[in-house]
Amino acid sequence: MRFGLPALLALALAGCAVKSPVEIVPAPRAYAHGIGGATFLIGGSFATGRSPDGNSLILYGPEGAFVIDSGRHAEHLTLIRQGLSGIGMTPVAIVNTHWHLDHVSGNPALKAAFPDIKVYGTSAIDGALTGFLATSAEASRKALADGAVPASAIPDVESDLATIARGAELRPDVIVDESRDIAIAGRPLSFRVAHHAVTGRDLWIYDAAEKRAIVGDLVTVPVPFLDTACPEGWLKALDEVAASGAEQIIPGHGPIMPIADFGIWHRAFSDFIACARGAGALETCSAGWLAGAAKWIDSDTVRAKAMADYYGELVRSKKLDGYCRV
Ligand SMILES: [Zn+2]
Repeated sequence: MRFGLPALLALALAGCAVKSPVEIVPAPRAYAHGIGGATFLIGGSFATGRSPDGNSLILYGPEGAFVIDSGRHAEHLTLIRQGLSGIGMTPVAIVNTHWHLDHVSGNPALKAAFPDIKVYGTSAIDGALTGFLATSAEASRKALADGAVPASAIPDVESDLATIARGAELRPDVIVDESRDIAIAGRPLSFRVAHHAVTGRDLWIYDAAEKRAIVGDLVTVPVPFLDTACPEGWLKALDEVAASGAEQIIPGHGPIMPIADFGIWHRAFSDFIACARGAGALETCSAGWLAGAAKWIDSDTVRAKAMADYYGELVRSKKLDGYCRV
């Protein structure tokens, strides 16, 4: 990235690394769109020049509602709250798929509004608060001081800094570091923990009654967000998703995928990693990704290529290898 920020914050700046003008392509989002099985999807956004929000879901069971991932921006939180009041249920829990700020930043506000909420997630956030997020915050403060952050990205960067400063409030109340079956709000689910994948530990959820896997950032468009990833662990986690019996995948960013689409995405991801691990030109890897994942990239090609170039280089540089170690 041009500004040398760790890319999780620098995702806001991804558009700025692109030299040709990029049109604003708002990602599709829907307010509490029912997807069947007492489940609602609130689509995340990823407008050019801004940081993304991950997808959120609201599920309910006999004992109340719960939210999977709480987004980053206030606008996204408003959509979650409208969704909750739309079904007239009080949330009893938040489940965080992983600690990236586009999935957990809404936790404190939801907990303040609904004090009985219990947050479920892995303990990987502890290492992130003293590691990646701390480093990221330092780099962001320096970039702000140096005037290196474009004006349009300043509000997002400042708001992420405020979130990191309150990092302890993002931590789970109930730590889930190993796979297990569980009932949330009286609704049976299977929590699956992937080690060393998108982060040190990612939580994905298999809803057997719906044959639906809610996988967080194990699946994302327009590109896989490899900032804190161990590619090998990620590939292993995708094999586990493929073997889960799911017929439908809810990605962390992007539209719902029938299992056949997930297969296409999975192949494009494996090919991209293999290419970036190889010795050929990195442009070939980006081109392969753009072709393999074309159905989700649509008119976002310029930005997707810039990001695929960045992540291809990140994989090749071996800078990610540290994320594969305990
Ligand atoms: Zn995300």
